[in-house]
Amino acid sequence: MSKSIAIFGSTGSIGDSTLQVIRENPELFNVVTLVAGKNIKKLLEQIQEFKPKNVYIIDKENADIIKEKYSNLNIYYGDEGMEEISNLVDFDISVSALVGIAGLKPTYNMIKHGKTVALANKEVLVAGGELIMNEAKRSGAKLLTVDSEHSAIMQCLNGESSNPIDKILLTASGGPFFDKEITDKITVVDALNHPTWNMGKKVTIDSSTMMNKGFEVIEAKWLFDVEPGQIEVVVHRKSLVHSMVQYKDGTIMANIGPKSMQIPIAYALNFPNRLANNIEKLDLFEVVDLKFEKPDLEKFKCLKLAYKAIEKGHPYQVILNAADEVLVEAFLEGRIKYTDIPLGIERMMDMYEYRELKTVDEILEFDKEIKEKTKEFVEEM
Ligand code: NDP
Repeated sequence: MSKSIAIFGSTGSIGDSTLQVIRENPELFNVVTLVAGKNIKKLLEQIQEFKPKNVYIIDKENADIIKEKYSNLNIYYGDEGMEEISNLVDFDISVSALVGIAGLKPTYNMIKHGKTVALANKEVLVAGGELIMNEAKRSGAKLLTVDSEHSAIMQCLNGESSNPIDKILLTASGGPFFDKEITDKITVVDALNHPTWNMGKKVTIDSSTMMNKGFEVIEAKWLFDVEPGQIEVVVHRKSLVHSMVQYKDGTIMANIGPKSMQIPIAYALNFPNRLANNIEKLDLFEVVDLKFEKPDLEKFKCLKLAYKAIEKGHPYQVILNAADEVLVEAFLEGRIKYTDIPLGIERMMDMYEYRELKTVDEILEFDKEIKEKTKEFVEEM
């Protein structure tokens, strides 16, 4: 039977890859919900092709344009609309691929209803990992991952539940600056030039600073219920090994394959069965070496700050995430220097005392407060 898919972030990079998987497997999947931010042109094309039942776009004016063309659609907009559409339960699997904290509440809502969520948005677990995992336990929701490294780990763990693990080896490409010096002369174009993956802007900048890897350590801790000390980041420049699990007997299971987000997405949509595709297979004779290196935490300050946030506890992970979101945006807009990103995050982390954040609303309120403070820092620069 065809599975109904909801895509939160359909007009983004993960959204594109998800729709490509669905396009290639029309007998297996159909689209029930499309959620976009601003890109009305692309959303209209997607509506035309995939004929969803429910659609969301941020602005009312854009929602009205859609309504004029497709009067039979359920159309949602604004904060209220996001609350409504993320409380619908008419799908089998949702791909959660909004960017940043915007994904937290909608993902929480879907988990609350016991639904299956394929999570791309790592910031959800960085800011609200404990809450999301507890809610999933309570509601029986299934949380899958489409982040390539975490999908790799999920695959290495599959069928091994009786074997406790020694550690997770989380691979990182190292980004564009692994072999270069990090200076305040780095431009937006330099930082967006990722050597191995083609992704949305925020995650590409986060990859260049290795903040992305810091987020992924936190994500792995929650998804796989391991101690942070059991997660080791290994830099693997070719991005062919997507991550590994080391077991107590010393065996390392590695997930190796082509660099395409369609593979982990298809694996989650059809979990636990793999889907055939037309993506070029790896030629192992072409793979001359599988080199692994240690990340330099003095150079990649954002990764070091992520470890510090893990050590200091939950509110500091919320700060890490919120400050990073504002600073990356400011860097993309040319308002701050590249080196101001870790500087600003550190400033914010040093400014706050520990506090308990028990609900999604408390997290969102704190996130807002940090963002305001970080914007003040940006203004001062
Ligand atoms: P993009 O920037 O390409 O896409 C983000 C999507 O979210 C777009 O559809 C955008 O809409 C939508 N969106 C953003 N804010 C809102 C909002 N407030 N309300 C509604 N829609 C919104 O990001 P990616 O696809 O690259 O990444 C998405 C998430 O997945 C991130 O958390 C990222 O870290 C993670 N991820 C991405 C990977 C990748 O390969 N791209 C790999 C692993 C994880 P619009 O464009 O219409 O404004």
